[in-house]
Amino acid sequence: MRFAIVERNDERSRALKNELTSELEQRGHVESLNPEIVISIGGDGTMLQAFHTYLDQVEHITLVGIHTGHLGFYADWRPEEMKELIHHLDGKQFEAVEYPLLELKIDYADGSKNQLLALNECTIKSFNQTMVCDLSIRGDYFETFRGDGLCISTPSGSTAYNKALGGAIVHPALEAIQITEMASINNRVYRTIGSPMLLPKHHDVEIRPVNPIDFQLTYDHFASIVHQNVTAITCRVSNQKVKFARFRSFPFWKRVRESFLAEERT
Ligand code: NAD
Repeated sequence: MRFAIVERNDERSRALKNELTSELEQRGHVESLNPEIVISIGGDGTMLQAFHTYLDQVEHITLVGIHTGHLGFYADWRPEEMKELIHHLDGKQFEAVEYPLLELKIDYADGSKNQLLALNECTIKSFNQTMVCDLSIRGDYFETFRGDGLCISTPSGSTAYNKALGGAIVHPALEAIQITEMASINNRVYRTIGSPMLLPKHHDVEIRPVNPIDFQLTYDHFASIVHQNVTAITCRVSNQKVKFARFRSFPFWKRVRESFLAEERT
């Protein structure tokens, strides 16, 4: 098996990477730039980094996450379970589950375009003023949004920034994206829907600035970048998916409970 490891660059994660590399190599597996398995060691941020590092090979890779901090959403193996994980990897005894991704297209005034994929979400804010944008869904005008910004998330990203904005937690078996508002202005003059909205596959949302503004855009762990002269940002469920290795049953709702409510009930 060809494998690659992305680690958080702290002492513990580095040590685990060295140990895991040596164990896998002893069993005849090869570290490769074209891996079949990508192992992230660190936290959810490390998994986001691993995903983006191998994005151009996303159809061919399967991701696995080991957490060296607290339980992560994507990083659910504990360092103490390394032997068990090596055993599964060695025997290739695993299934893969597929999670939907967010596709983001940006149109600029000069006619150029940019396309991005996100595993968690993107956020769109204006640079130094209230963001005023027209939202169209499937080509039909929906509303004029005024406020701090918008977050568009994937199901697996719904437990991240989206959750902090009051968005719903969405099971990743649902191929959807969620739009959540950041501090919308709502009064007798201005009105937005005010509720998070889920769009199914094949529906897109186009966000168009009413007056020329510079957008501040984040996606996944990538920090805010100013995009000038944007005419439209269009978000939809991507046709591409990401695969995570499933070695044992760890249902999504159990992960939600253990991450946000309490440890396993004894
Ligand atoms: P970070 O180190 O600030 O991590 C933020 C937290 O988000 C970590 O605790 C991480 O475990 C958690 N997280 C990431 N993805 C998750 C997911 N899918 N489900 C549940 N928790 C998740 O930043 P980072 O490591 O660079 O990660 C970037 C992510 O941080 C972004 O994708 C965004 O979702 C999240 N974020 C959250 C907020 C917020 O909740 N207010 C604000 C900014 C960014």
